[in-house]
Amino acid sequence: MSEPRTRIVCPIDFDQDGRQVGHLRLPFSSNRSAYGWIGIPIAQIKNGTGPTVLLNAGSHGDEYEGQFTLSRLIRELDPARVQGRIVVIPALNAPAAFGHARCSPIDGGNLNRSFPGEPDAPDSRPTAAIAYWVTNVLLPLCDALLDLHSGGKTLDYVPSALVNRHGEDDPRFPRRLEALRAFGAPIGYIVEGGSVSAGGGMRAPTLIAQADARGMLALATELGGAGTTSLETLKVARRGTYNFLAHVGVIEHSRDTEELPEPRLVTVGGAGYYVHAPCRGTFEPAFALGQDVETGQLCGWVHQIDDPAAAPVEVRFEREGVAFCKRPITEVERGDCLAHLGTDWRG
Ligand code: CA
Repeated sequence: MSEPRTRIVCPIDFDQDGRQVGHLRLPFSSNRSAYGWIGIPIAQIKNGTGPTVLLNAGSHGDEYEGQFTLSRLIRELDPARVQGRIVVIPALNAPAAFGHARCSPIDGGNLNRSFPGEPDAPDSRPTAAIAYWVTNVLLPLCDALLDLHSGGKTLDYVPSALVNRHGEDDPRFPRRLEALRAFGAPIGYIVEGGSVSAGGGMRAPTLIAQADARGMLALATELGGAGTTSLETLKVARRGTYNFLAHVGVIEHSRDTEELPEPRLVTVGGAGYYVHAPCRGTFEPAFALGQDVETGQLCGWVHQIDDPAAAPVEVRFEREGVAFCKRPITEVERGDCLAHLGTDWRG
């Protein structure tokens, strides 16, 4: 294989035992720093031989459970407990994380829609440069991936974990389903076709789709959201992360891997699982996060507050299931996602 075409410099010696903590150097020439680089925190905790697991968070900078959980894990996980190698990146799109934003404030890049990235990406496209480095330098070293997401500022989730299923005969799906159960979030959901937004299968531009295409074991999460955290979402994040590490076999089961409830397994397919605002206005929900809903049930109303004589616009669920994602912001524009549901998995 030819050398990856990246200018990112990595401080980690992937063959060295013990704990290493440093920063990837992402070259970035700007008005305030002509020859500067942006530091993306990275750590490795390695002991002997065994599987290599990538723990990732902060692809979206306004999703915090993973950032907190992985930063803490870097500080507290004793290398002696590890059999193999754990690479930890708590804020992969560091410019977005530092700016508390979903997308990078530098180039507007949405990292988890940017895989596999671009070779030789210029300084003006740091998001594509990060995606390329992960795809071409890091993933080839790894056997398993846990990509920790939450809903961010504009969505709120019942704590969930998710895997892709690439068609009905996907040979690696049963192994993913086992990992989904092992993580132990209250909801485990299966994304049909591998892309929530476009049904793009293995070509979906997400990190877990890249990992799936390489035959890795890949799991993602949606742990909470609304731009904040809670004791409950942080507990699910922490236990789930340790459960995943034990499931893969890179640590032993222990107090940290205490069992969580068996998840409710649901499936999420195409557009009918999502409810979007039909117009600009002020959204009043008619459901609670985590509620079971029927096909055609009222999701809420979009009000035109400047015209109290006008009836609000009703918005309805198109399918039955559990409404486990909700927009926590009242102000809406046409096309904003208000909610999504999953239907019970009958596999
Ligand atoms: Ca996310």
